[in-house]
Amino acid sequence: MSVAAGSKYEPVIGLEVHVQLLTVSKIFCSCSARFGAAPNTNVCPVCLGLPGALPVLNRKAVEFATLAAMALNCRINEISIFARKNYFYPDLPKGYQISQYDKPLAEHGFIEIHTKAGAKKIGITRVHLEEDAGKSLHEGFADAGEKTAIDLNRSGVPLIEIVSDPDISSPDEAHEYLTRLKEIILYTGVSDCNMEEGSLRCDANVSVRPRGQKEFGTKTEVKNVNSFRFIREALVYEIDRQIDVIESGGKVTQETRLYNSNEGRTYGMRSKEQAHDYRYFPEPDLLPLVVDEKWQAEIRKTMPELPEARRKRLVAEYGITEYDAQVLTFSKSLADQFEAAAKAAKNPKRVANLVQSELMGRLKASGLEIEQSPISMSGVAVSADLVESGAISGKMLKDLYDLSFARGKDFPAVYEDEGRPQQSTDTSALERIIDELIATNSKQVEQYRTGKKTVIGFFVGQVMKASKGQANPQLVNELLAKKLEG
Ligand SMILES: [Zn+2]
Repeated sequence: MSVAAGSKYEPVIGLEVHVQLLTVSKIFCSCSARFGAAPNTNVCPVCLGLPGALPVLNRKAVEFATLAAMALNCRINEISIFARKNYFYPDLPKGYQISQYDKPLAEHGFIEIHTKAGAKKIGITRVHLEEDAGKSLHEGFADAGEKTAIDLNRSGVPLIEIVSDPDISSPDEAHEYLTRLKEIILYTGVSDCNMEEGSLRCDANVSVRPRGQKEFGTKTEVKNVNSFRFIREALVYEIDRQIDVIESGGKVTQETRLYNSNEGRTYGMRSKEQAHDYRYFPEPDLLPLVVDEKWQAEIRKTMPELPEARRKRLVAEYGITEYDAQVLTFSKSLADQFEAAAKAAKNPKRVANLVQSELMGRLKASGLEIEQSPISMSGVAVSADLVESGAISGKMLKDLYDLSFARGKDFPAVYEDEGRPQQSTDTSALERIIDELIATNSKQVEQYRTGKKTVIGFFVGQVMKASKGQANPQLVNELLAKKLEG
């Protein structure tokens, strides 16, 4: 595709994200919802879809789904309806999936994302509850060439589906939306969002239209993408492909396409597999779901501080940059560790400053993520207190941090290994150094005495150098001022 053709069109993207809820049991039966059990061991008549078995809704799944929807700024519908989504698939023994259709649990939410042009709200059409299907296994068996095996452990595991409005206008925005979405869900604790284990899955609807046109173009749905990076790649490919089709006089066909990450391209699925007519109808075995105001209020009470709000507070409270607030809120646990360390230290701002000035740079230089840091947040707090009390100088702290990174050991351990070094507070030794400097730098002494007080910086530097960075700067300043006043 040419650059000129690319700028003539704009993409329109909507994302459908499935998130597995971290309940102990499945959504409609008491089987374990845990990942990784031996195939077909977490099953019962309900999740096997045996005749006569009746679903019973898991209260915790409703609470988790509601909490997630609230975190995504959705309006909770007091009454929502479960519906049967009918289709045949070998790993769907009932022949239908229990989902929600025209009356979902929650609607009208949004996520704020950061783009080059500033903050942008991406609308969330709906959040609804549904059960997962089982899993078809095509590999790893002696007769896998002829047969497909089915594992129904996942059948009936609770999911929420989060559907975005078609507000996303580039693959980068899609990536940012997913990153923020995952971060928010992780903060609420309702899912581990582990993509390898399938607890977060994403499908993308994408179309292109001439820039400025209101009507949407024909969309395709890209499925089978298992990382945020691949979603971005798949979207880039699919947008280019659609523009090429239109530019060469063709028409985009509405279809489902699969992304092959090895080849970096999408393929249309056989048309037989995409003739969807789900014939939704209300699930007769389940009553309408009622999440009244009282229950909503109880759920809202369990809402933790969300990442965006926490970043704003960290910036205001600790005087750190937005970028560092981003890094420190990467996970809730990291942010919790940071704040616990900062609060335990004598001077919380000093902890924040050390993280910003000493830790981040070293992590970047060593190519480490913050969770891989040899110096823990409590290690930073210990070092901050040592500087605060004057036991070690800033220069000594830098050296000890370097040793921590070189040895892959936390700060307190390195401090012990080095014999708990102390900066020099030996006044007589410092006085000797100062006397000598005053004797050999009469010009600077003269400048100081005639009012150019800033020249004291020159002397401080010389004393620190002479003491090999071991002197207590505060003490040096005091002694120098006294001697220079002479
Ligand atoms: Zn079961």
